[in-house]
Amino acid sequence: MSSPTTIPVFADAMPAFLDDAHRALSRKLAGDLEGIRIDDHDAARLVERLVRADAFALVVDPQVRALCVAREALGYVSPMADSIFAVQGLGSWAIGQASGFARRDEILAEVKSGARVCAFALTEPEAGTDVAAMKSVAARDGDRWRIDGEKVFISNAGIAHHYLVFANADPSLGKKGISAFLVAASAPGLTIEKVPMSVDHPLGRLHMKWCEAELVGEVGQGMRLALGTLDVFRTSVGAAACGMARRALDETLRRVRERVLFGKRLVDQQLTQARLAEMATDLDASRLLVYRAAFLKDRGERASTEVAMAKMFATEAAQRVIDAAVQLHGGLGVTLGSAVEQLYREIRPLRIYEGTTEIQKLIIGGAFAASEGP
Ligand SMILES: Cc1cc2nc3c(=O)[nH]c(=O)nc-3n(C[C@H](O)[C@H](O)[C@H](O)COP(=O)(O)OP(=O)(O)OC[C@H]3O[C@@H](n4cnc5c(N)ncnc54)[C@H](O)[C@@H]3O)c2cc1C
Repeated sequence: MSSPTTIPVFADAMPAFLDDAHRALSRKLAGDLEGIRIDDHDAARLVERLVRADAFALVVDPQVRALCVAREALGYVSPMADSIFAVQGLGSWAIGQASGFARRDEILAEVKSGARVCAFALTEPEAGTDVAAMKSVAARDGDRWRIDGEKVFISNAGIAHHYLVFANADPSLGKKGISAFLVAASAPGLTIEKVPMSVDHPLGRLHMKWCEAELVGEVGQGMRLALGTLDVFRTSVGAAACGMARRALDETLRRVRERVLFGKRLVDQQLTQARLAEMATDLDASRLLVYRAAFLKDRGERASTEVAMAKMFATEAAQRVIDAAVQLHGGLGVTLGSAVEQLYREIRPLRIYEGTTEIQKLIIGGAFAASEGP
C-alpha cells in the first residue's frame, strides 16, 4: 500500500529559471503538504490541507513559476489535491481579468482563502478541442442572465461553489458572441451529474435549464478569457506531470533497492540502470522545458511554442516514466493501492486536458511552418 512520503524541495535543482523566493516556496510546501496520502480522495480534507498551506493565494494574480513549483509538489504528493488547486485557478482567473465586474474583489478574496472553491466549464459534448462549436446559449433576463446548455468533463463538479461557464450570448456573432458567466452551485435550473473516471476525482456534467447566471466582463469577451486562462495555466500541467513522474521514480528507487533477484539487488542489474537513466533524463528534460516556458511567461513574453513543448513533452514523458515504474515493480505495479498503479491512472488525463498532445503538436508545428528561413 502507498504510504506518506517526504516531499523533495524541487526548486533547489533548477537554478537557471528560479530564484530564492521560488526555493523558499518549494521548501515551505514540502513541509506544509507533508503527510497527505496519495490515495486520499476526500475532497473536503484535501481542500482543508490546501487552505492550511495557503496554496490558493498562488492562483490569484498567478506567477507561472510559482504555480509550477506548487503543482510539482502537489503532483508528487496528491494528484487529486493538484487538480483541485489548478481548477481553483482556472475557475477564477477570468474574474480577475474581466473589465467592470463589480464583485471581483469580494470573490477573489474568497478564492484566495479557500472559502470559495471554483470550477471552469468550457467543454461540451460536441465542443471539446473545437471549443467555438459550443451550443450553450445565454439570454438576458432583467439585470441577470440565464443559460441553457450542457457542459461535460468538469473538474471540481460537486465540490465547487461556482462554475465559470462559457456560453454564447449572441449566436448571430458566431464565436464573437461567446461570453463568460458565473453560475452558483445553488442556482435553480442547474443540476450536476457525477461522472465516474479512472481515478476518483470530482468530475461531472452540468445540465443548465435556463439557470441563473452573472455576466463576467462584457458580452463577447468569452473566448479571450477562456484562451487567456489556458495560456496562463497550461505550463503548470507539465509541472504537475513532473511531480507525478518524480514520485514514480522515487517509489521505483525504493523498490529496486529492496528487491533481490538472482542473488543481486534489482538496482544493481544493468538493464534496471538503463531504465533508471531513461526515466531520470526524461524527467530532467521535462523540467527544463517547463521552467523555461514558465520563466518566459513570467517575463511577459509570448511563448506559445515553448508552452506547448513543455506541456506536450512533460505529460508524454511522465507517462513513459510511470509506465517504466510499473514495469520495475513487477506484479506489485498493477496491484490496486500501490502508488505507481495509481499514478499510472492519474497521469493519463494530463495528455488530454488543457489542449491534447495533438493540439500542442499543431501549435508547435504551425509556428515552425509559419516562420521564415530554415
Ligand atoms: C480528467 C479531465 C478533466 C477535465 N476537466 C475539464 C474542466 O474542468 N473544464 C473543461 O471545460 N473541460 C475539462 N476537460 C475536458 C478537456 O479539456 C477535453 O476533454 C479536451 O479538450 C478534448 O476534448 P474532447 O474530449 O471533446 O476530445 P475531442 O475534441 O473529440 O478530440 C478527440 C481526439 O481528436 C484529436 N484531435 C482534435 N483535433 C485534431 C486535429 N486537428 N488533428 C488531429 N487530431 C485532432 C484530439 O487530440 C483527441 O485525441 C477535462 C477532461 C478530462 C479528461
